[in-house]
Amino acid sequence: MKRLFSSNFYVAAFMAAGLMLSSCAKDKNGERLIFSIEDDIALGNQVAAQTDSIYRSKGQLLELNDPRPNVQAAYAQINKIVDKILTSDQVSYAQEFGYEVKIIHDDNTLNAFATPGGHIYVFTGIIKKLDNEDQLAGVLGHEIAHADRRHTSKALERQYGLSVLLSILLGENQNQLVEIGAGLATLKFGRDAETEADFYSVEYLGDTPYTCDGAAEFFKKMQDEQQAGKPPVFLSTHPNDEDRIKAISDKAIADKCVKPVQQSSVSDYQTLKNNLTL
Ligand SMILES: [Zn+2]
Repeated sequence: MKRLFSSNFYVAAFMAAGLMLSSCAKDKNGERLIFSIEDDIALGNQVAAQTDSIYRSKGQLLELNDPRPNVQAAYAQINKIVDKILTSDQVSYAQEFGYEVKIIHDDNTLNAFATPGGHIYVFTGIIKKLDNEDQLAGVLGHEIAHADRRHTSKALERQYGLSVLLSILLGENQNQLVEIGAGLATLKFGRDAETEADFYSVEYLGDTPYTCDGAAEFFKKMQDEQQAGKPPVFLSTHPNDEDRIKAISDKAIADKCVKPVQQSSVSDYQTLKNNLTL
């Protein structure tokens, strides 16, 4: 009897069925993505290595093993803030992603961004514009939310296509990886993703000593810069308006987690800024 299908057909059908099965499983956020958490982590590691090399070549990346005591102290302080945020049970992938912050020494750029899988980059420009740890916690919470809610993976998939991302995971398409690394600092999310990141920045800070509207205070600072004629890069990817600030404040009030900023949050933050005067 003539065979109707080649063995390749069966292999392809089997793989497609596997993909469909895996894509039927919901992630911890209750969403169905073909891209797995392991894919997020693997792509994130590759994109972070690429991002590191971009800022390293400009002499701007503060290495995690930088021997200067003030740089070590700055990393220790930021990691302590991140650890407080990660105690929130609202962070779905605290264990899997690990969440690692890297500081980029560029006082003129007001920006922060995240790769898939939880690598967060913060520019000294943004750190130096803020007044206390609570405001920085608001920014970090917002960026952690972009990774944790997997916005970065979804945005990259939309922009480059799933097959390109999968080929990068297979070690192919290195040119695209370079392009993704270069574009990450100005990657735009949809309005829904931004609203969700703002929402979770409030949720995450609810379980910390920080006031959970830290992101609202942060956005006010960015707005001040814009009005002073110095539009921050962060606002080019984060349309800022009164509605956004009000939504964060309203949620914090509704959640009853608006707290007075502690004196130590202000004095410790001054120490952080001093340590980053390089
Ligand atoms: Zn954002």
